[in-house]
Amino acid sequence: MIHLIIDTNIWLYLANGLDTTRNKHSDDLHFKLLQELKRLKDNNDICIIVNKVIFEEWKRNKAHCKLKIDKLNKKLLNHDQHFRELDKYVKSETKFIKEEYTEGLKEEIKANEIHIQKVEDFLYNDCVEVEITNELKIMIFDLSVHKKAPFHNKKNNIADACILFSATEYLKKQLCDENNSAIFISNNFDDFTDGKNIDDFHPEILERIRPIHIKYERILPKALKLSIEIIRELEEYHKHEKWLDSVSFRCKTPYCEGNEDFSPWGYLDSQIEVKYKSDEQIDPNQTELFPEIPRPLKEKKTVGFGSCVICETFHIECPECGELTYVDDYDTDEFECTECFTKFEVIHDDSEIGMSLIVNDTTDLEEELDED
Ligand SMILES: [Zn+2]
Ligand SMILES: [Zn+2]
Repeated sequence: MIHLIIDTNIWLYLANGLDTTRNKHSDDLHFKLLQELKRLKDNNDICIIVNKVIFEEWKRNKAHCKLKIDKLNKKLLNHDQHFRELDKYVKSETKFIKEEYTEGLKEEIKANEIHIQKVEDFLYNDCVEVEITNELKIMIFDLSVHKKAPFHNKKNNIADACILFSATEYLKKQLCDENNSAIFISNNFDDFTDGKNIDDFHPEILERIRPIHIKYERILPKALKLSIEIIRELEEYHKHEKWLDSVSFRCKTPYCEGNEDFSPWGYLDSQIEVKYKSDEQIDPNQTELFPEIPRPLKEKKTVGFGSCVICETFHIECPECGELTYVDDYDTDEFECTECFTKFEVIHDDSEIGMSLIVNDTTDLEEELDED
């Protein structure tokens, strides 16, 4: 789960698509960003932390979000200007083009109006509201009096400080494990960084939010991209953990089984190729000697093997009975399955892992031949 902490300006940006650094409205990036946030939230991949201050700031600034709509409305009112140009240069019928133009504008206005409402609904219904405690208020007051970051500039940052630190307090109370990360997004880098390294929090802020790891990001699309990367890494990690669980075993050696304090374990995390001694004895020139016994090669297969993490004893799935068995010293001995007593040998060869398991099945074959 990734916790996103979004400052007021980013909320406004999400609503109106106004990139304040370039003073330019985006066409539809703000629509896509909201869709992505909603998708990640519905998937339980992210959780967005808000508080009362954000609600207040939203109410106060909501009118500014309509700037883009105002611009579009103005364009619609002054369409004659554009149409005059059109009539001057276009010789064919322009009636339909003009209609399409005004319709397109109207649609864009409508889409932006709906979008602002969607952002508001998302803010109120899909985010987790955290408390602003009295201790937090006192702490922020202290920081501002002593001009500590984010009050090291002359700006009044009470609202944004409140958003960051209330989220930190909340995260400190949550269970912290490797599944939790947090990203704080604000383009006010002069307030939240030392101005030299604008990709990281100001050292005083880092000190204050410890031991919680919160990554600082200036731009929402980048924060989302990062979130998706973290989500993928977590998925990979969980997949790997699940796989390890599925191949884990309890050590079977007398040394470890006698351990009363805990059960030593290992992972059958490699596969070894199984070969049969009887197959190796098949010589195409000799098969004629025993024409009455059809001897097709046995089917190729592999079995899992791995070592106990404590005693390092090599464990293997018996290819005959499927039970887990172990080998004290596979380099020298022929050994047998502790369950079905099949005999094996490990040989070093040029297979992928450098060795194969040879099943000594020739005794059966000799018996068969004897019987015949
Ligand atoms: Zn062991
Ligand atoms: Zn066996």
